[in-house]
Amino acid sequence: MITKIIQEEKIQKVKKYVEKGDKFVIVTHVSPDGDAIGSSLGLYHFLTEYGKDNVTVIVPNDFPAFLKWMPGAKDIVIYDRYKEFADQLLQGADVIFCVDFNIPKRVDKMAEALINAPGRHVLIDHHLDPGDFCRVVISYPEMSSTSEMVFRLICRMGYFDLINREIAECIYTGMMTDTGAFTYNSNKPEIYIIISELIKKGINKDEIYRKVNQTYLESRLRLMGYVLYEKMQIFPKQKAALLTLSAEELKRFNYKSGDTEGFVNLPLSIKGISFSAFLREDPDNVKVSLRSVGDFPCNYFASTYFNGGGHKNASGGEFYGSLEDAVAVFEKGLMDFNPGNIEDLNKDK
Ligand code: 5GP
Ligand code: MN
Repeated sequence: MITKIIQEEKIQKVKKYVEKGDKFVIVTHVSPDGDAIGSSLGLYHFLTEYGKDNVTVIVPNDFPAFLKWMPGAKDIVIYDRYKEFADQLLQGADVIFCVDFNIPKRVDKMAEALINAPGRHVLIDHHLDPGDFCRVVISYPEMSSTSEMVFRLICRMGYFDLINREIAECIYTGMMTDTGAFTYNSNKPEIYIIISELIKKGINKDEIYRKVNQTYLESRLRLMGYVLYEKMQIFPKQKAALLTLSAEELKRFNYKSGDTEGFVNLPLSIKGISFSAFLREDPDNVKVSLRSVGDFPCNYFASTYFNGGGHKNASGGEFYGSLEDAVAVFEKGLMDFNPGNIEDLNKDK
């Protein structure tokens, strides 16, 4: 038995929406990651298995190649390619599940269409500070992934038996990717009870790990070598590291979406480094990724300096300006808010 975390009243509401609804849309955040796609597709397959035949996942923009193998991935509608079609689906939906994000801004250009859609909105998320834009808000930041919450929701509605291998694969992928393959944020024993159930549903967890983590292109590995050798700055006093890549460097290494996934974690394997940042010069802005181990709240750093947010140990944001200016802001942040001074920050090292 796993603990009942989601309030009963919310479970009953969602159960009613599932029973009565005809047209369902599931949306998730911009630059979808494994948990975003995993929780969306997990829910998608659940609704399909339940008997609903009008269910669509819409994402604001494309998602990385290492998630394209997931069952149902090819049916996902990408908003910035099929805006009109997606707008129609949103307008016509009876129920709209908003998964793995807390505020409409996180769905980028889709925000207006999402808010204005007349259907019942249900939020399923694990980020702090959920916004007030959904009729039912299922938000539990202590959960390590939204995919885990989807599993809990399905079970609590009484539909454990409907969970098939496809649903289980999607849920496992999200749980795995949001915990760095169970290397952080993953000390809750119930995670492993859930995994055990997913294995009984037929998933091959080792194969999922390989499909997600070991299908990169040669160009990604060369870019990783370059960024570590040439572009890593260490700030020993602050126990911090910074990686940067300019647009020109990305072009030189034939960069494709997803190629820099996980780079931000690499400096955390250095003894004494507890805070790591990766700044990437994208066409419209500088994408900021932050990671920490221990008590340093990256989400605070992300919201103070980079108009972003996220989790304590994994957060991100955006910077509108040059890469050099973004680096200067980062360095100022380090001086104002020295992660090296946080007590106990390095207790695990
Ligand atoms: P990543 O570094 O993998 O892009 O993002 C890590 C986490 O930080 C995401 O799961 C999300 O919670 C958060 N995050 C990333 N970018 C942004 C952003 O621009 N705004 C906000 N509010 N959160 C972000
Ligand atoms: Mn997540």
